[in-house]
Amino acid sequence: MFEPIKILLVEDDEDDFVLTRELLHEIFGSQVGLDWIADPDDALDAILGNTHDICLVDYRLGRRDGIDLVREATRQDCSAPIILLTGLDDREIDIQAMEAGAADYLVKGQITAPLLDRAIRYAIERKRIQESLAKLAQYDPLTGLANRSLFQSRLKDALANAKRTGQMVAIMLLDLDHFKDINDSLGHPAGDALLKEVAARLKHNVRETDTVARLGGDEFAVIATNIDHLEGVATVAEKLVDAIAVPFGFEYHEIRTGTSVGISVSPPDVSEPEHLLKHADFALYQAKSAGRGTWQFYDAEMNAKRQARKTMEDHLARALGRNEFTLFYQPKVHARTGVVTGVEALIRWLHPEYGMVPPAEFIPIAEESGQIIEIGAWVVRTACAQHLAWREAGLPPIPVAINLSSVQFKDGNLPLTLRAIMAEFGLSPQFFELEITESVIVENTESVSEQFRMLRKLGHPIAIDDFGTGYSSLAYLKQFPVDKLKIDRAFVANITEDPGDAALAKGIIALAKSLGMGVVAEGVETAGQLALLRRHGCEEIQGYYYSPPITAEAFAAWYRARAKKLKDADAASVA
Ligand code: C2E
Ligand code: MG
Ligand code: MG
Repeated sequence: MFEPIKILLVEDDEDDFVLTRELLHEIFGSQVGLDWIADPDDALDAILGNTHDICLVDYRLGRRDGIDLVREATRQDCSAPIILLTGLDDREIDIQAMEAGAADYLVKGQITAPLLDRAIRYAIERKRIQESLAKLAQYDPLTGLANRSLFQSRLKDALANAKRTGQMVAIMLLDLDHFKDINDSLGHPAGDALLKEVAARLKHNVRETDTVARLGGDEFAVIATNIDHLEGVATVAEKLVDAIAVPFGFEYHEIRTGTSVGISVSPPDVSEPEHLLKHADFALYQAKSAGRGTWQFYDAEMNAKRQARKTMEDHLARALGRNEFTLFYQPKVHARTGVVTGVEALIRWLHPEYGMVPPAEFIPIAEESGQIIEIGAWVVRTACAQHLAWREAGLPPIPVAINLSSVQFKDGNLPLTLRAIMAEFGLSPQFFELEITESVIVENTESVSEQFRMLRKLGHPIAIDDFGTGYSSLAYLKQFPVDKLKIDRAFVANITEDPGDAALAKGIIALAKSLGMGVVAEGVETAGQLALLRRHGCEEIQGYYYSPPITAEAFAAWYRARAKKLKDADAASVA
């Protein structure tokens, strides 16, 4: 059984009303629900009541023009199509009617039942198609939430509104933790079900007047309007985080996800939609890096820092190609004999604008971007070339210690890369000690210990850098046998004043000796520090006391001067 069609007829002429009613009865039988409005002043309200399937509006309505009525009704979200009925067959009026938003235009004298029937059915069908197209263009078909385009127009409206009323607008951006994993492991139906569930939970936890949108993938957004204080926004964000964290059942699985929320609020934030969105995005990034399952407001200062970092990243990405890196070398000296035992290669970035950038500033960035892999290979090559160049210049083979980042162990290619470079230069790995930090061995994955074994097998001596600052335990040292420990310079710095640090340094030296390892003290700056380390049996010394890191040329000169001094001293002692 069909619902009876509901028709609104706006007609100030009673005869015409009777005529039209008869036609309608002829078409729809007595099933038609017909409301008649005779007073043009009541017409707009009746149309906007939106309770009819179609409106038939007379063109000439006493004081009021039917076209104006159509225009006004269309502007104000009238949901039913409107057919204009007129006594005149006039092309001009026809065009005006269409422009005003009328679905059709019928000339009264010519209306027959089949013609009216067809006009009504077509108008309703066209409206239905129009609406579903509009919906398709504005809503996400999976979740029924607003899509990005509707989100943007709602945001624009909300901001314009807020400007007028002086209230705040907040946008919250969220995405789901491990959505890709869930999709990959449980399949797309599970992913879809999860997205729908999340959409429902978000809607459930915000106000009716707020907009919840799916911007794409697992990215959602909320526009909250009429806000009078930030705590309110934080409370909502908290609720959203909690709601998403509740596990949900799909088939026989329990799916767990979580979300972080990035929030920007205007004012005090900017009021251009794009900027607000960018800021929320940045806040989301911050929330995620602060540990998932939290919310974060946009912070301008942090953003400035990130901008600077981003610029640094861009410059760093080009640094290798532009030959902006160089290696400095810091000598290591035997504690008792004073003989040079080798150098440590320390990278420097000579940026055309920034000047000399210290490794502490750019290595972490290169690690995060993965660029350290390439840079690391460049360091080894450059060290090899330098080793050969010094030999050419008449120096003995100088052992060069190379710093490795834990990231260089990530792809498992490190031993092969090193082997290839050593072969390329025809050099023995024994001259190239590798300095790794405790963080590498603490990770203790199968892959790391495998690479570790391979590197030792190739013949690279291995030293643990910054020893004492990480968390390595004696058990690790047993599992990862190394050749040398480098006492971190933080302990060396206070060794003569702080008995605790002195005891630590002494302990590390004793530990190294008992395990048959060498030991180097780094950051030695004073004769007092040197004397103390010497007394405790430290073998090698590195630090400003002898020399800061210097260029390759400077090192060659330094080396010659030192060799000469040692020889003279030797000769003197013989004499
Ligand atoms: P590190 O390997 O512990 O290097 C020793 C750092 O101590 C160097 O800082 C050196 O200049 C500094 N130093 C040496 N003697 C003294 C001293 O007597 N007093 C003081 N106050 N400092 C001294 P630098 O060159 O700034 O390097 C910092 C860190 O950057 C290095 O620490 C190392 O972890 C990393 N790094 C340097 N070059 C490379 C590289 O080629 N690859 C990797 N992955 N990391 C590198
Ligand atoms: Mg080092
Ligand atoms: Mg160190």
